Amino acid sequence: MTLIVEKFGGTSVGSVERINAVADHLIEKHQAGEQLVVVVSAMSGETNRLIKLAHEICAKPPAREMDVLVSTGEQVTIALLAMALQQRGTQARSYTGGQVSIKTDRVHSKARILGIDSAKILEDLALGRIVVVAGFQGIDDGGNITTLGRGGSDTTAVAVAAAINAAECRIYTDVDGIYTTDPRVVPEARRLKSITAEEMLELASLGAKVLQTRSVEFANKYRVPLRVLSSFEKGEGTLITYDDETNSMEAPLISGIAFQRDEAKLTIRGIPDHPGVAHTVLGPISESHINVDVILQNASEKGFTDLTFTVPRGDYEASLEILQRLVGELNAQDVKGDDKIAKISVVGVGMRSHSGVANTMFKTLADNDINIQMISTSEIKISVIIDESKLETAVQALHAAFGLDKESG
Ligand code: ADP
Ligand code: ASP
Ligand code: MG
Repeated sequence: MTLIVEKFGGTSVGSVERINAVADHLIEKHQAGEQLVVVVSAMSGETNRLIKLAHEICAKPPAREMDVLVSTGEQVTIALLAMALQQRGTQARSYTGGQVSIKTDRVHSKARILGIDSAKILEDLALGRIVVVAGFQGIDDGGNITTLGRGGSDTTAVAVAAAINAAECRIYTDVDGIYTTDPRVVPEARRLKSITAEEMLELASLGAKVLQTRSVEFANKYRVPLRVLSSFEKGEGTLITYDDETNSMEAPLISGIAFQRDEAKLTIRGIPDHPGVAHTVLGPISESHINVDVILQNASEKGFTDLTFTVPRGDYEASLEILQRLVGELNAQDVKGDDKIAKISVVGVGMRSHSGVANTMFKTLADNDINIQMISTSEIKISVIIDESKLETAVQALHAAFGLDKESG
């Protein structure tokens, strides 16, 4: 028997029909000899609906109760799927994250999985049952329900696969694999047969939500065989490969383009420049669990400097408040902000051995009259911050400029 973890995202379990279709699919695999653990998301739209409900009750819902609330979406799906399987004469059991001991830290809404006790799952599998596990949720050491951040069911699936040493983890979604960029924005985007974990990690952390970043980190750490496929049509999907399996000489220059819409930019201007300025400004931001992304400090002029950085748009107001408090403390001039910016990144391990990518990127944006506000680079990616209204045009232009619509090699 082969041990497999399959994960179905929101759209794939978005209706009774879809849940029935998933049950049929699972039974086919089960009968073909696979031992199955199935991780499911909430039905599409459900997590957003629950978040909205909470905000109708209070502007800042308490984090603990928020996790109790949003984790219910997945509990509905596991029960319905287990029923659909039993209805078809197949033994199945549903479990919440806590019931199969998906232990996390205590950071509500962004919890990290610390460990999984796989005993119960393995026991059920040995009895011939299909095990259905709620994605996105875990439990902390105080017995509180936690959630893993948006898209977290991917991480549950990969973590379970690592814990039970599954032969493969299959992520079923509403596209048939990983593309050169989001196919909803660039219709010419091309499905990749495979992608290195390193590149997928960059793409995910830079906004390609097809896999949650943390799931790729887990997969990479434990070398979990991972594939992204469509739950609507048959196909090979896209395989994630690991360093030791890839010949980097053959790597394409650019593998993909990722983008992030929900970004915001803040600048604190005219700060008296002395050692410790960045720490004084960014320290309180990070203490509020806000992730700072691109950071730019201007060369100081007459002893004063400006510090600009980006944060997720949802953290804009809180960041603005913190900076406004700091203006007086630091004797700075003022604070400026813009919450209508976006980030575009081109990613490729081939960049390591080739130059000129930045040039092509900057020229393409200039030719399309798109102003670059900030730039950040690493060995295998170049990111730029631009006005949000130019995002689609920029992604489409860059996709064409790097020839991503054409089969490489
Ligand atoms: P699920 O609900 O199954 O978890 P998600 O909506 O989280 O699905 O992720 C799938 C979506 O990711 C696709 O519908 C697509 O719009 C988007 N996406 C963004 N970048 C990419 C990419 N490079 N390749 C494929 N899909 C992408
Ligand atoms: N339901 C959660 C979300 O919408 C988790 C997931 O779907 O992966 O983010
Ligand atoms: Mg997802």
